Amino acid sequence: MKYIFGPVSSKRLGQSLGVDLLPPKSCSWNCVYCQLGKTKKFVTERQEFFPREEVLDEIRLALAANNTLDWITFVGSGETMLYKGIGWLIGEVKKLTTTPVAVITNGSLLYLPEVREELLSADAVLPSLNAGSEALHLQIDRPASGLSFRQHVEGLAAFRREYQGRLWIEVMLLGGINDSDEALHELAAVIKQTNPDMVHLVLPTRPAPEQDVHLPSEERIEQAIAILSTVAMVVHPVKGTMDLRSAPDMLQAVTSIVSRHPVQQRELQKAIADCFPGENDKENAVMQDMLATGRFKLVEHDGEPYWVVNDESSCQENC
Ligand code: SF4
Repeated sequence: MKYIFGPVSSKRLGQSLGVDLLPPKSCSWNCVYCQLGKTKKFVTERQEFFPREEVLDEIRLALAANNTLDWITFVGSGETMLYKGIGWLIGEVKKLTTTPVAVITNGSLLYLPEVREELLSADAVLPSLNAGSEALHLQIDRPASGLSFRQHVEGLAAFRREYQGRLWIEVMLLGGINDSDEALHELAAVIKQTNPDMVHLVLPTRPAPEQDVHLPSEERIEQAIAILSTVAMVVHPVKGTMDLRSAPDMLQAVTSIVSRHPVQQRELQKAIADCFPGENDKENAVMQDMLATGRFKLVEHDGEPYWVVNDESSCQENC
């Protein structure tokens, strides 16, 4: 499948089917922690990058093959709301299934009324808000020129006024960057203006394009929870897990997920082992075969091996 990946399992969204509407990497930001690597060329113009009917056909097929989904999640190779027509797709998906629809977005285009309008029928929207000041926004999110911090916050606040669904703000907590008391108090003040249903605190657990991206200490995570909890309910950091048991083609499913974000080797090993209960060491043989395709390579992050796509392979064409 070209646009569908997963299902991936996470504590936040349970069994979630991913829908990626963008050519890699298409983004209006260039976050220091981005798991997709650096933004080589900013994209701020919304387009229907792929025919919407084609995407819908794949969603239809995936729904027929997976009947235990908790969410259908629009997320992927950049900023989701750059896809013009996502509102139509959400509407069509809702005619096909009662499975709720989530959209993960950096929120940078929410200042546009037409973007907010397209999101109104989603069941949950998860925009990013990593900074409480323009200076930290520039340091962390590194937006395209013409996108300001004020615009970002005003867009989020305007969306909240219009949107009846669940607004879950995602905060990426970065050690030594936005985890000081001062930065957290500023962030809490801005989050208050956007009045979310929840704040999801996430951590840079995957390889990032910049060297100075680090996990915060336990003490800083606790402090972030304490400070942000004064303005919204905060969900503790959680890590997703992969579930490949319903994948019709395991290599394709893994390629599809790894091309969208690095996957910890341990997580992949467990997901493959779950597909072969009682077969000792089968997962290692399967992983060796996968590595032999040349589609993947291993990189290290915080002492842990991760699988990433091998840029020199031509796997993108097969995803
Ligand atoms: S908004 Fe998302 S895709 Fe874009 S640079 Fe930031 S982390 Fe990467």
